[in-house]
Amino acid sequence: EEPTPDTFAPVEVGLHGVTKRFSDQTAVDDITLRVHEGEFFSVLGPSGCGKTTLLRMVAGFEHPDAGRIELDGVDMVGVPPYRRDVNTVFQSYALFPHMSVWDNVAYGVKRKGVKGDALKKTVGEHLELVRLSPFAKRRPAQLSGGQQQRVAIARALAAGPRLLLLDEPLGALDAVLRKELRMELMRIQREVGTTFLYVTHDQEEALVLSHRIAVMNAGKLEQVGYPEDVYERPATRFVAGFIGTSNILDAKVSGVDGHRVELDAPGVTRLRAPLHGEVRHGQRVAATVRPEKVHLYDQAGEPPSGWCVLNGTVRDVVYTGVSTQYVVHIPGGGELVAFVQNTRRIDDAGAPGQPVRLAWDPDFTVLLESADD
Ligand code: ATP
Repeated sequence: EEPTPDTFAPVEVGLHGVTKRFSDQTAVDDITLRVHEGEFFSVLGPSGCGKTTLLRMVAGFEHPDAGRIELDGVDMVGVPPYRRDVNTVFQSYALFPHMSVWDNVAYGVKRKGVKGDALKKTVGEHLELVRLSPFAKRRPAQLSGGQQQRVAIARALAAGPRLLLLDEPLGALDAVLRKELRMELMRIQREVGTTFLYVTHDQEEALVLSHRIAVMNAGKLEQVGYPEDVYERPATRFVAGFIGTSNILDAKVSGVDGHRVELDAPGVTRLRAPLHGEVRHGQRVAATVRPEKVHLYDQAGEPPSGWCVLNGTVRDVVYTGVSTQYVVHIPGGGELVAFVQNTRRIDDAGAPGQPVRLAWDPDFTVLLESADD
């Protein structure tokens, strides 16, 4: 008989102080986080930061040295992988090469004892879900990489897991296919509602796909938040640098004016940021601003009053299609990058060697700990 729908109910994942060591190295270092039921949750970080190890512990292939993993509040210690209602999709697809697409998708469903019409229905629905119904009779070798990965996703979901783990599933695909398949993945997850725990080093992928993102570095959690949070309000220098491009200015707090912090930075005429939490007069901080928030004027240009302002000299101009990147040298200071949308004809205001004025709304300045602290 068919399983009742609520056996498929998406699960909540709780990690509490999870730590994993390999000889002298701590691969995962005291991670605490909660993945909500039905959430598309990504773990984002550079190669070697411990993401795969974290995923393998949730799957039950590795065991934490310390801490606790819970699925819907139930401690998973001692629960083997096949009893966790969890399935994994790997970068390598790991399809059965001698079986047809249909048999690959049917594999896990049969193992659950589903037969006859119920089996056909489940397999048919999942082939439909990944839009591969016309390819049911083919062998994996007769499919493109993107199609093979869709079979792997259908196979993993057909078995009815309450949590799907995905380890860089788009990693083996070329850039165009990656973009195509990530839209598919997003649609599939929203359609089935299963909790997805997704591991990637690709920040753009994480921003596009996820309800929430955990940023990891060297085994530790740097920030957990909505895509807009980690991008617009990075909590650490690492997050500011790893996700997108950030300008970082070393600065000192010179005063507080209402809800604004006033700052001094070499070569910068006016630097301000919104006041969040406590700051001390004279405190050294890093002030960051995203390049697309920075506007470019000629030196006679008048930015809106109250904006952050600096004068500099254009060093490099790089045309990238959607935008043009201006690298501006700040006399007595460092460099600042501005991305200017190519929505108007580019004139020669801002050729290398020319003086320019850069300005941005102080709401877009984010203060972080100074590197020296
Ligand atoms: P990548 O994206 O390159 O796969 P990752 O973020 O998934 O990286 P992990 O594979 O989790 O990182 O590895 C984290 C660290 O733990 C690495 O330094 C790795 O060398 C180490 N490590 C992982 N598995 C083992 C193991 N079985 N034995 C010893 N060290 C390991």
